[in-house]
Amino acid sequence: MSNDNLIKVTVWNEYGDAQKAPAVTRVYPQGLHETIAGFLNKDPEIEAQTAVLEDREQGLSEAVLDNTDVLIWWGHVYHDKVEDKTAQQVIDRVHRGMGIIFLHSAHKSKPFMSLLGASGRLCWREANEKTRVWTAAPGHPIAAGIPENFVIDHEEMYGEPFGIPQPQCTVFISWFQGGNVFRSGVTFQKEYGRAFYFQPGHETNPTYHHEIVQRVIVNAVKWAKPVIKVGPLNCPNVQSLEKLE
Ligand code: ZN
Repeated sequence: MSNDNLIKVTVWNEYGDAQKAPAVTRVYPQGLHETIAGFLNKDPEIEAQTAVLEDREQGLSEAVLDNTDVLIWWGHVYHDKVEDKTAQQVIDRVHRGMGIIFLHSAHKSKPFMSLLGASGRLCWREANEKTRVWTAAPGHPIAAGIPENFVIDHEEMYGEPFGIPQPQCTVFISWFQGGNVFRSGVTFQKEYGRAFYFQPGHETNPTYHHEIVQRVIVNAVKWAKPVIKVGPLNCPNVQSLEKLE
């Protein structure tokens, strides 16, 4: 397989000071973006690179986006530091065919809320509680090889109601030990591009080391890869195809 056939993934992480605290670095010494890129790069169909907020043009220059089939987004504390221009460039690329995967606290990121036209609201609790993820759409490509349910021993709770439009598919629903439930894996079609939101992944929990979580993200990359990528979207004035009387 030539390099051109690989799915080019950019794993973007805000990676600010909050993620350089010992509570996080003991789980993700190089940052969770490197962990995610690391397991993605074990797949022969995927070529993953990383980008962070501090990089030039916030890590999301036109050159980076030109070379991205699927963008993975992890952000939490620094959502407001992402410039509107950067968020708009990302949304424009999704409209033109780029896939996007929003992880965990990306539900309040600018690209998530703008792309979905929604608040992204939810309730939460940081209690290191057990969560059981149920596969609600076993026939969906993102669920390929994923068991009927699986447990993550310690996660942050995210609970309904979740402020999103009706998903194209609810692939996963999670139950939390404290009683809440959440639509934890949902898909959307946004013009030419595909979007997937996946809840697990609090930064102080080793969630991205979990084998089944990794499988979900690999599957999601393959599902979200562009079917077609188009140039800038405009509204052309066109001639008629048949003769108009
Ligand atoms: Zn969290």
